[in-house]
Amino acid sequence: MAVSQTLAMTQKSRELAACGMDIISLSIGEPDFDTPDYIKAAAKKAIDDNFSQYPPVPGYADLREAISVKFLKENGLCYSPAQIIISAGAKHSLVNIILSLVNPGDEVIIPAPYWVSYYDQVILAGGVPVVVSAALDNDFKITAQQLEAAINDKTKLVIFNSPSNPTGMVYSREEMAGLATVIEKHQNLFVISDEIYEHIIFEGEHVSMASFTGIYDRVITVNGVSKGYAMTGWRIGYIGAPLWLADACNKLQGQLTSGVCSIAQRAALAAISGFGCEQAQMREAFRRRRDLICSLLENIEHIKLRKPQGAFYVFPDISYFLGKSDGHVHIENSNDLAMYLLEKARVATVGGNAFGAPGCIRLSYATDEKLITEAIKRISEALAKLE
Ligand code: PMP
Ligand code: GLU
Repeated sequence: MAVSQTLAMTQKSRELAACGMDIISLSIGEPDFDTPDYIKAAAKKAIDDNFSQYPPVPGYADLREAISVKFLKENGLCYSPAQIIISAGAKHSLVNIILSLVNPGDEVIIPAPYWVSYYDQVILAGGVPVVVSAALDNDFKITAQQLEAAINDKTKLVIFNSPSNPTGMVYSREEMAGLATVIEKHQNLFVISDEIYEHIIFEGEHVSMASFTGIYDRVITVNGVSKGYAMTGWRIGYIGAPLWLADACNKLQGQLTSGVCSIAQRAALAAISGFGCEQAQMREAFRRRRDLICSLLENIEHIKLRKPQGAFYVFPDISYFLGKSDGHVHIENSNDLAMYLLEKARVATVGGNAFGAPGCIRLSYATDEKLITEAIKRISEALAKLE
């Protein structure tokens, strides 16, 4: 497995900042907001109420019940609490499913640009990643024809993600219906639908893949509280899955980690069943930042950009700058460009290679507007030196 590039770049920028360098980090994907007070209060109460013993492996019954209600209310999905497993972040939920489902030699279709960990988690399971590249001209979305062409007898799984990390693109209901029709035809094919950014959408609607009834039995819906509730550090993710697969994940988790931190689960219960207005406020802040960063990037010559509709990333095409040099540093690929921007512009980004899109770089705009403005100014100056 490779090292996670999102985490590696973040680590590097933290180290440089610790040495006193003025680094602006647009590398890690996490909200810069504090966890809302009503959620923190629930965690403090859980400590005082002595939630200090091993929790049940699949999660507390009341949290699974609350997630079951959430799935029905927000996504129109019917998952009983028994079909829901709580894990240490959606990343852990994903690896539980992949290890449970994928046998050595099984092919797994990963539409690119993809989130870094999908690829390496498939490798960990002995699976064979089959990358299907979506075109910038198609807003980085794969078509039903592309999906159909990638499926063969060895295909076990497709990993689908909308809103997308790293592109911020959101598939429309019609586009998803096209993909669902292909999936329905191939009865041995499973789908992971990673919906972790469902609450951060600026235009259009979020559609759950499992809501296409013909494929419900073969879709595993992945979600968590990290992004929607500014709770990345609490480490709570969950799945809604066919019962037999939820049981397999439960068995695996019982041998690997046991149940997830009791206090974090009580906080997640408050988040999921609460009624704070913070979510809407965070979404509006992300929308303003998206508009700002896109308008600034659009003024940089030779960058190609698609305006995202969700999440908090932009994924400009920087292929024009590959092969160029500032007289000292030669830029071969997008990782070199990310390193160049870190060293010369003191802005941390992530090269597109890590997302299966070597012509792009990812910028996370989950930071304040002044820093975004300064970061893009620095990037623009550093790029102007490349010829
Ligand atoms: N899926 C996607 C698309 C992500 O971007 C992330 C992390 N940002 C995760 C899953 C994992 O999230 P977490 O483990 O924090 O729940
Ligand atoms: N998922 C976030 C990102 O893409 C956090 C880092 C990670 O978990 O890889 O930046």
